[in-house]
Parts: sequence; C-alpha cells; structure tokens
Amino acid sequence: MTKKLYLETVGCQMNVLDSELVVGSLRRQGYTLTQEATDADVILFNTCSVRQHAEDKIYSALGRLRHHKKRHPDTIVGVLGCMAQKDQELIRKRAPQVDIICGTGQLAQLPALIEEAKKTGKLQLALSLDRTESRHDVERSFESYDPLRDPSMRPSRFQAYVRIMIGCDKFCTYCIVPSVRGPEQSRPPEHIAAEVRQLAAEGCKEITLLGQTVNSYKFDYGDGRRVRLSELLTQIHDTAGLERIKFVTNFPKDMGDDLLDAVRELPKACPYLHVPAQSGCNEVLKRMKRLYTVEYYREMLLRCREKVPGVAVSSDFIVGFSGETEESFEKTCDLVRESGFKNSFIFKYSPRPGTKGHEMFADDVPEEVKKRRNNDLLAIQNAVSLADHRRHIGNTVEVLVEGPSKNANKRETASGPMQLTGRTPTDHIVVFDGNERLTGRTVEVIVDDATSFTLFGAVETDEFVGATGVANDEELTPIPVASRWSLPIV
Ligand code: SAM
Ligand code: SF4
Repeated sequence: MTKKLYLETVGCQMNVLDSELVVGSLRRQGYTLTQEATDADVILFNTCSVRQHAEDKIYSALGRLRHHKKRHPDTIVGVLGCMAQKDQELIRKRAPQVDIICGTGQLAQLPALIEEAKKTGKLQLALSLDRTESRHDVERSFESYDPLRDPSMRPSRFQAYVRIMIGCDKFCTYCIVPSVRGPEQSRPPEHIAAEVRQLAAEGCKEITLLGQTVNSYKFDYGDGRRVRLSELLTQIHDTAGLERIKFVTNFPKDMGDDLLDAVRELPKACPYLHVPAQSGCNEVLKRMKRLYTVEYYREMLLRCREKVPGVAVSSDFIVGFSGETEESFEKTCDLVRESGFKNSFIFKYSPRPGTKGHEMFADDVPEEVKKRRNNDLLAIQNAVSLADHRRHIGNTVEVLVEGPSKNANKRETASGPMQLTGRTPTDHIVVFDGNERLTGRTVEVIVDDATSFTLFGAVETDEFVGATGVANDEELTPIPVASRWSLPIV
C-alpha cells in the first residue's frame, strides 16, 4: 500500500528547496504526495521563524490537527526547519501531539526519524547545537542537506534552486536566521558544479543559487586557494543546456567589483541583484548592526548600475524597528524614492526572542504606526516600480515562459491561446498570450504596457503560439498584438 505524505511550507526560498529535497527523499521511500492533511500517513510542516506571524500560522495548523491525531494515533506529525531548531520546548508544550521535531541542519535524518516514530511511538528529536558552543562543533552539527536531485520533485522541470552555502554570520540584531540556520558554510564548488550539471542534463534552463548572503560565498581549499562567487559563476557558466544563472540574497557590504564584473561579462549571469537595504537611516542601520551607512549603500547602488548597465535591483525594508522615528522613516522613504528599485519587500518589525535586538531594544513603535509606515512605503515603492516597469514599454524582452498565468483559466477559450507568464533575465514578470506548449522555452516578447508589478506584451516569434492544430515547429506563426486579451492582473 502506498504511504501518503502531506507537507506544508512557510518561509523563504531556502525552505522551498528544503521541502523539495524532503519530498524527493520520501518519494524514494515509497511516499506519494497528498493535498489533504487528514488523508496523510505523515504530516510535515517546514517552518519559518523570521516573523511571529509565520510561527502563529504553524501553531494554528497544529491546533487544527489535534483531534485528527487523537482519532488517528498512527499518523505521524512532524515540525521541521527553523521553528523546530529554535523552539523545541515550546512546540512540545503547545503541540504535544507532534512526533518529530527536526531542525534545518538535520533534515537528512528525516526518513529514519519517521520510521523510529512509527516503531516506538516516541517523540523523535534531531537538532543542531546552539551557537554558544564552539564554532567547530556547531558547524559540524549543521549539515548542508544536498541529496541527489530528482526532476519530479520540482514544480517546474526547467527552473531549480541550488544551495551554495548554509547559515549566516552577520547577526543583524533583528534577525533569528544565524541561530536557526547556523554558521556560514560554503559548499565546495565541485559539488555545486556537479549538481548544476545534473540539473541541466535533466532539462533545467535556469538555476538560482541560494545563500542568506550569497555574495559572501567563499570556499577555502586549505592550501591558499579560495573560490568566490564571481569565480563560481565562471566555473558553472558553460554548463551545457543552462541558459540563466540568478543568485539571491546579496549583502550590501559584500558587493565586490569582481562579482559585478562577472555579471556584466558572463552572458548567462542575470543582471538582477536583490540587495536588501533594510533602512535609509544611519542610526537605525547602526542599531540593526547592518555594517554599512546609507551613504555606502547609495554608492554601492551607483556602482552596480555603472558596472552592469541595465541591471535591475530589488530590496527589503523593515519598518518600525526599535527607535525608528518619523524622521528616520522619512529617510527610508527618500532612499526608496531615489533608488529606482524594481521592487521591494516591506516588513513590519517583529521582535524575535533570542536576537540581540529583542534583548537590547524596546519594541517601541506602536502597531498602527508600523502599519501606516508599511502602507506609505509600499505606495512610494509602487510608484517607483511603475516608473521602472514603464521604461520597458516598446522594448523586446527575453522571457523564460513559466506557464499559464493565474488568470489563464478564466481567459482560455476553446480556439484561442491562453495567457502565459514568465520572467526576463532582470526578473521582471511578463504576461502575454500563447500556447501552453511554450512553457519552458525562451521567447522574445514586445512590451506594450506595464503596471507596478507586471509587463504586458505579445510574443515576437516565428513560432506558432495558437492553441490548436500544431503539427510541428515549421508551422509556427506569430500571433498579432491586437488579439491579446484585455489587461490582466497577475
Ligand atoms: N539573508 C537575507 C538578507 O540578509 O537580507 C534575508 C533574510 S530574511 C529571511 C528576509 C527578510 O526578512 C530580511 O531581509 C528582512 O527584511 C526581513 N526580516 C528579518 N528579520 C525580521 C524581523 N525580525 N522582523 C521583520 N522583518 C524581518
Ligand atoms: Fe539575517 Fe542579516 Fe544574516 Fe540576512 S544578513 S540572514 S538579515 S542576520
């Protein structure tokens, strides 16, 4: 009889990748995925601790499962990832029905933990050391989880995340990541290159290299040789079949000229840089321990644009951090107004027990002020994003087609093409009409409209993009701009 697995994921790309790998390893043990938690033999939650809201979601989901677990005691319930590493005691107290608590650095053990929980009916714990222990021991206790890849795990065959490092050593005062993901450790370039080759051989065209501070990547061989991100990009660049290399997330202070030169020189390296600023006020940046000033950030932005013409830059901001005054907030607004960011992710400060920020500073900005600042900054960023997107109107952009857009079903007709979505090398989302069979292919799209979030256009191609009667690629013909549906919201 097949065993059924339900897995819910909260959080960042790193968690999405971890979940993909967990699913892959459990599939090899005979599990199939189910969409219904109550239908599953094993229910897993891959969790996030970056903000309180993410944790609340998981406790609510665990609460809803309490009765189910009572009625089906053989069902295994597991909490994985950041919350597991951070709060094992609290999880045991608030959700005693949980059978497995497995931290970010122990995911390789999961199949064995499930078997042990089934056999013994006892709680299984697999956690890494906390960062008060010796660096060497803590590093060893956080294992990079990189089992063999399997295309059936990924939502898309032609795109994949590749982890190039784990952990973080920056210790920004608001952030829990260094505690729950351990010390910064870079994977050997040869392992990364082999994984990229395997992915490309399986049809993967775009890879996104992942690291909390991906541009801090450095691998030391111990004999004086060191490989940095710029060299890693060069090493994997010529992988057959690979078309695009993206990398996230960059730390402003580690944005070296060598990396910017590599992005400019290597055709497959995408001119897209996610470089979170977090605040535009020096006092706040200092309390955050971000290790740079706003003047440095501005100069870095200028350097990115000079060295990589046409580069798109995006950012993250936290509003309402301890001690953020109206004046400091205004400085952040100024930075966003003048930055030309493609987009920004804006978060209300959420104090995290276990961080220096929580220990040292009061959470003294009221919730309604955080909310208002969040909305105000979002409105400014939306105007900046609109200007950025509108600059592309009239241009032809290269789009890797990801598939039907969210609105495709509503708009599809029996005879017409459907609405597709994809991204440019600069990470702009593009929506246009075409045949679903274009999914996974790179097409040229002429942009004819834009919102703050999306470019709209029509495929410029010799290839058939209609939905019916396609015999082979020779019959392909372009679809006229006029036949596009009215502007969608994606
Ligand atoms: N490593 C990345 C970096 O250095 O920018 C991102 C890590 S974090 C998972 C993603 C974003 O969450 C951060 O850039 C920050 O804006 C936000 N964040 C982190 N801790 C937060 C907190 N305590 N409250 C609100 N937002 C937070
Ligand atoms: Fe968190 Fe700062 Fe590390 Fe990013 S660089 S993961 S924000 S501590």
